[in-house]
Amino acid sequence: MSADAASLHPGGGDLLVRGARAYPPGPEAPPLSVRVRAGRIVEVAGELAARGEPVLEARGRTLIPGLVDVHVHFRDPGLERKEGWERGSAGALFGGVTAVVEVQNNPPLSISRAALEARLAHVRARSRVDFGCLANLLPASLEELDAMAPLTPAFKLFLGGSTGMGGLEDRATLRTLFAAAARAGRMIVAHCEDEELLKEGKHRFKGASVAEHHLVRSHEAEERSIDTAIELARTTGAGLHVFHISAAGGVARVRAARAAGIPIGSSTAPHYLLLSCEDAPRLGNFLKVNPSIKTPADAEAILAGLRDGTVEAIGTDHAPHPRDEKERPYEHAPSGMPSVDLLWPLTWELVRRGWLTPECALASVTSSAADSLHLARKGRLEPGCDGDLVLFDPDERRTVRGAELPSRSKWSAYEGWELAGFPQVVVRRGLVAFADGSLRVEAGGEPLAFDPPRPRSAARG
Ligand SMILES: [Zn+2]
Repeated sequence: MSADAASLHPGGGDLLVRGARAYPPGPEAPPLSVRVRAGRIVEVAGELAARGEPVLEARGRTLIPGLVDVHVHFRDPGLERKEGWERGSAGALFGGVTAVVEVQNNPPLSISRAALEARLAHVRARSRVDFGCLANLLPASLEELDAMAPLTPAFKLFLGGSTGMGGLEDRATLRTLFAAAARAGRMIVAHCEDEELLKEGKHRFKGASVAEHHLVRSHEAEERSIDTAIELARTTGAGLHVFHISAAGGVARVRAARAAGIPIGSSTAPHYLLLSCEDAPRLGNFLKVNPSIKTPADAEAILAGLRDGTVEAIGTDHAPHPRDEKERPYEHAPSGMPSVDLLWPLTWELVRRGWLTPECALASVTSSAADSLHLARKGRLEPGCDGDLVLFDPDERRTVRGAELPSRSKWSAYEGWELAGFPQVVVRRGLVAFADGSLRVEAGGEPLAFDPPRPRSAARG
């Protein structure tokens, strides 16, 4: 029986994957087999015998859990011409990603329960991977936070403006938003750049090019904004996760806050680890993302943050734009780059370079990523977890060609890079969703499960 004929149950299929090798790869890696029933893992062992379910022969490839990308923008509904869920979720599978957390930063925003419900229904009809949709935390959504809290893993707040979203600089407004999120019992995920310093940077570097993007949107902008967010989290009791840390000072602030007992999490993106401001002459506006990509020393500090657990996850901040828009002059080019299609090869590259241990790299895109946003049943090869699996060959190398990636933007900041570890088979809840370069599913993604809201009664400090 072939895996393609996987018998379907509501929510997932039955499948036995056998003959795989455990992670990390190497001559000592033991054999590994996983049995999935009705979409959930029921057995994990070296060897397992078939019990009538479809069998996928792994032929010695390395088996890891499906990846969780904690931060993508698929711009759908509203800007489908830039990506859309159909292409975006195809790119996710290509990168080994079986679950995404999506941030809508173009209208219609999720500022009411009705808007969020409509978005979830829209996405469910289109996504090939499981998904969480973040609700927007804005003055306009204040009245609806309690109603939205059960439907979203977190509220997204832009302290600094970025492509498509204005930032908030008024401290009283921010305090109101933090307090309301705390009452609703949902964590805030924050884009931390200080709006006042961003405006000042734009003014100070008039006529800047992408080579000065990290000066226009400075280290200090991120650091001051994280200070603000930490202080508001401390005094209101709101849970906080700082998205896309880009600066050494950002890592240091989160580390210090955690040491002081303030429950704060954070994540970064592959481009803050593998690229730097020194790539501007080569990449032009392809390097233009927000927060800005800073220096090699900042990348070093973020890697140290991943190693000691200060930075819990690597999410792509996949933010596609058409090539012609990126080729406009610096000040008119939109910020953001695609990379969900490459999440596992880029993460594996961090191991190949000896920058992260295999264990740390994998956790940052699976178990630790899921935990950072309290997502249930994702990112682990354990009974009870979803049967989301990736098979890859650690040594098979391919050259990145943006035009060949599923994402609609058809360009990549990693063009021409030789990467290894491209996912060869991706299983989503027991169903083969991608194999040998081909998509095997249309839609079928389900909303992610996450911890229920936990209202906080008393503010601290
Ligand atoms: Zn983003």
